[in-house]
Amino acid sequence: MDQTDKNPQPKDAQLVQTDVASSTSSDTQSQPQKPSVEGVTIQSAQDARINTVKRIKEAMLAQNKLTEKQLKNIEHTIKLHNINFIDYLISQSIVDKDFIGQTVANYYKVSYIDLEANQPPKDLVLKIPKNVTTESRVIFYYLDQSHAVFVTDEPNQPGLKEKLAEYTGGLPVTIAYSLSDDIDVILAHYRKPLITRFNQIIQEQQRVAPEIIDEIIKDAIVFDVSDIHFEPEEKVVLIRFRIDGVLREAGQLPIQYYENILNRLKVQARMRIDEHGASQDGAIRYSVDEESVDIRISIVPTLNGETVALRLLAGNSKNLNFKNLGFNVFDLKTIEKQIHRPFGMIITTGPTGSGKTTTLYAMLKLLNSSDINITTIEDPVEYKLFGVNQIQVNRATHLNFSEGLRTIVRQDPDIILVGEIRDKETAKMAVNAALTGHLLFSTFHANDSATAIPRFIDMGVEPFLLSSTLNTVIAQRLMRTICNACRKSYLVNISDIKKKIPNAEVYFTQPQITLYFGEGCEACNFSGYKGRVALYEILVVSPQIKELIVKNPSSKLIWEQARREGARTLFEDGISKVKNGRSTLEELMRVAEPK
Ligand SMILES: [Zn+2]
Repeated sequence: MDQTDKNPQPKDAQLVQTDVASSTSSDTQSQPQKPSVEGVTIQSAQDARINTVKRIKEAMLAQNKLTEKQLKNIEHTIKLHNINFIDYLISQSIVDKDFIGQTVANYYKVSYIDLEANQPPKDLVLKIPKNVTTESRVIFYYLDQSHAVFVTDEPNQPGLKEKLAEYTGGLPVTIAYSLSDDIDVILAHYRKPLITRFNQIIQEQQRVAPEIIDEIIKDAIVFDVSDIHFEPEEKVVLIRFRIDGVLREAGQLPIQYYENILNRLKVQARMRIDEHGASQDGAIRYSVDEESVDIRISIVPTLNGETVALRLLAGNSKNLNFKNLGFNVFDLKTIEKQIHRPFGMIITTGPTGSGKTTTLYAMLKLLNSSDINITTIEDPVEYKLFGVNQIQVNRATHLNFSEGLRTIVRQDPDIILVGEIRDKETAKMAVNAALTGHLLFSTFHANDSATAIPRFIDMGVEPFLLSSTLNTVIAQRLMRTICNACRKSYLVNISDIKKKIPNAEVYFTQPQITLYFGEGCEACNFSGYKGRVALYEILVVSPQIKELIVKNPSSKLIWEQARREGARTLFEDGISKVKNGRSTLEELMRVAEPK
């Protein structure tokens, strides 16, 4: 974020150690002490965010969305769990994003524009110089014959309209409000490439390692990166980002700075600095502006030196709802029914990184209420859910899934989530928990929904116990979605589709079909894709399938029966998303195949 150059604080981001004491202190870190008149001259992202939070609190109290006491409780909770205030409000459905936008906009007496849903064209954004855009946090949003619209998260800046009139050829200027997070995403397009910033840091700074780590992690947060990789080569270190499941190079560093960076990361994660020959794992909590992100770090020695993998944990559950996940209305009804059964097992399957845990969490969120006890054992705790007892697997104290599950069952909660069932002991214990009146959620490694059943039996679970406890198996994959800002349609003949999918007429009934693709633009880093959606295959264990599990649990027979009862394959679910323009045929073929 270039505007941080103007921040009176020397740095707005720093690494802090991951423990409870620092997680609370990072929230209460000193705010920039800037001489300012109330509501005027606010030019940093952090200031704008603090102001936004203040306005929302006022509005919620004024509109009786909350009592003072409830607000105090929320403030306590977010501090304790290190959650962003706005994310928390949205995740708990206390208010939605529109309420927040409208509230702040009303305060400023301007309109609210959802910048995420309505991105301005890049050539328009670039009509105003970078320094104006970043200093005033203002984005050129709309222009026609008669007027020009700009959005900012701080509409009260004195002289803003006059300043902007320079770029509209004399047309009247309207100012609207947009949320800070959404503005940051657009502002990020102005950033110089990481390599350029690295060179600047190397030339100008004495503290090269921390500055470089800061830049990398700030980019990772803005671009929704899930993993950061440092891969040493002979002369350089490659920095790679995983975005929407795909790794790509983000920058390179001269190798001579790597050791300092490595040491700094090791210190922050409480690893051994002098260890170069063995793998090490650790955790860091990184704070930037008002937000913080929990990072898992793993260091592995290779022939070229030590590689580092950082995984950024999602942390909050703001996007956890079924609408975002990609369930269609029929599947939603099925899921709603299954999760409200009093006991039994609900399992998600799929390879690593297919969003299994996310789906489980969305289900837990639907069930979460103050009169239900939900307890989890996870590795790692990927999302924090308010009011849920979340236990972290701990190798040092031998607290693994089966040991954790044993302890949890003794406490007799209503609902249990086990991060993963991957050994006999956990499998048997999970079945027992479900049998004794608990609703149990877990993930399981299997290629599709039906093969999960013989795999459970291979793990030593008695077929009759499985048949009486298994409620639902959901197989899933993640598919990249087409960027909203550059989606285009095209017509294609069925004969061309048949080259890729021989039985294409099963999925497409017309000779000519409209499909979609992303042309590539600034918003999607010219990849044509932005974000991901899940494909689902849902197997509900019906009385007929229960019978099969006991008699002849072959995945083929089970799937045939599920088909007769209306189950759809991952590929079929994907086809409907391709037809709707959510994704491309090529992307679907990458993640799933016709069955
Ligand atoms: Zn795009």
